[in-house]
Amino acid sequence: MALTLPDLSFPTNSLEPYISAKTFEFHHGKHHKAYVDNGNKLIAGTEFENQDPESIVKKVVGDTSKAAIFNNVAQAWNHSFFWKCMKPKGGGAPTGPVAQKIQADFGSFEKFAEELKNAGVTQFGSGWAWLVQKGAKLEIMKTANADTPIAHGINPLLTVDVWEHAYYLDYQNRRPDFIQAFIENIINWDFVNSNLK
Ligand code: MN
Repeated sequence: MALTLPDLSFPTNSLEPYISAKTFEFHHGKHHKAYVDNGNKLIAGTEFENQDPESIVKKVVGDTSKAAIFNNVAQAWNHSFFWKCMKPKGGGAPTGPVAQKIQADFGSFEKFAEELKNAGVTQFGSGWAWLVQKGAKLEIMKTANADTPIAHGINPLLTVDVWEHAYYLDYQNRRPDFIQAFIENIINWDFVNSNLK
């Protein structure tokens, strides 16, 4: 099968108090699992069955007859990417090559943080906020629902899930506080650096 549910690389309680074990139990164990299971059912027996998620979303994006495939496969990929953007005792100022690029393209880490937070807060309804690389330049991007930069040939470096299921158990309606905590305490900058091309 093309889609798999990856194990988390950290214990589910290791990001507390910023993200609870309960949130991971639902977000990884139920929501992400459902995208994987539904996606696999939808691609079974089709030309997409043995293709990787990135190829699938590039092929079906914009095709309304394949919206269910796009939504489930893109969400399966987005979540696998999102878990890798996190680590216990992460966040705060970046390290490595991405630190210089953030300085150059946003002016400062604080300005980058403000733009990422603003993208997540202003995404109406469900979606994702991203740090992406376009050519040599880093930019902030937001996508609605399942949409993902990889469907549009854009290289993602970092994402934060702003669907309510990502934060409601821990923050209720306080999406800005969730994004702030993600930036200050959770981002895995080693992973972000590894995504630079
Ligand atoms: Mn999610």
